Amino acid sequence: MLCLGIEGTAHTFGIGIVDSKGRILANAAKTHMPEHGGIHPREAAQFHAANARSVLNEALRLAKMEVDEIDLIAFSQGPGLGPVLRTAATAARALSVWLDVPIVGVNHCIAHVEIGRMTEKARDPVTLYVSGGNTQVIAFDAGRYRVFGETLDIPVGNCLDVFAREVGIPHPGGPNVERLAREGKRYIPLPYVVKGMDLSFSGLMTEAIRKHHAGADLRDLCYSLQETAFAALVEVTERAVAHTEKKELMLTGGVAANSRLREMLRLMAREHASKFYVPPPSLSVDNGAMISWAGLLAYKSGVRQKIEDTMVRQRWRTDDVEILWRT
Ligand code: AMP
Ligand code: MG
Repeated sequence: MLCLGIEGTAHTFGIGIVDSKGRILANAAKTHMPEHGGIHPREAAQFHAANARSVLNEALRLAKMEVDEIDLIAFSQGPGLGPVLRTAATAARALSVWLDVPIVGVNHCIAHVEIGRMTEKARDPVTLYVSGGNTQVIAFDAGRYRVFGETLDIPVGNCLDVFAREVGIPHPGGPNVERLAREGKRYIPLPYVVKGMDLSFSGLMTEAIRKHHAGADLRDLCYSLQETAFAALVEVTERAVAHTEKKELMLTGGVAANSRLREMLRLMAREHASKFYVPPPSLSVDNGAMISWAGLLAYKSGVRQKIEDTMVRQRWRTDDVEILWRT
């Protein structure tokens, strides 16, 4: 069975083609890069609509197939930016009706976990999913992916990106902050906020920007921002690992590219005798392949959707989804 999956929740419009054995035959994408400022939902949606055809053609070219060989259409039904979700959903509905094949809406966060489990051969990991739009500690328990901890305000990737923008570090924020952080020498105290199992990054971001305006060294600030934000992430993730006693830990999302965060998590995993996994970059960032794979899992476990059930869910929670394909 061949599934074509459409990702569209934020910057990236992606189309992946995956077969039921988990072979990734194509993973094509285009990413919207605003010239200045953050992401504007309607502009991103227009970008996705304008690029949908070329990304589809590229995916079919990579998979060396015709569109009518596709058996199933999957799409990111949420969570994400409304106009962007609606664009991907519209493309998915059109393909499903035109090809006369079933359609399945996929939860974006769960797709990140499932593609990592598949490619890394992780059975049952605690997952730290960190990106520009999400920050969650996820683990499977009693039929659902439970959220053990999450941000109460902004995602950690957004914290890095907005900080970068406000202090004049060029886009993309995350990798450039990481580069500067390597040259940082002095730790500047910044607000470290963990509330129960949840996190908060907006005070940290504001204070880091304020310290920049007060004249703090930018390299020291980048270093301190990373150390503070990542220590909080690792603390909450560690508590989830200790509580669940799971022996696998996975890091995914765009921020998974960060070597310092990987290093901290690898050390923590070792102390808990857990294996540590990070999917390859093309499958850690938002991508169509993960939507295809999660769509296949759902479909094979009996999930069926009518076109009327494909309305997007901007705030669709990870723990809202019954996971029929796992026990
Ligand atoms: P995504 O939201 O999954 O598309 O990933 C994009 C996010 O990942 C943005 O917030 C980037 O700043 C962040 N990111 C990418 N590379 C790095 C890095 N090396 N260190 C920290 N954050 C990163
Ligand atoms: Mg994502």
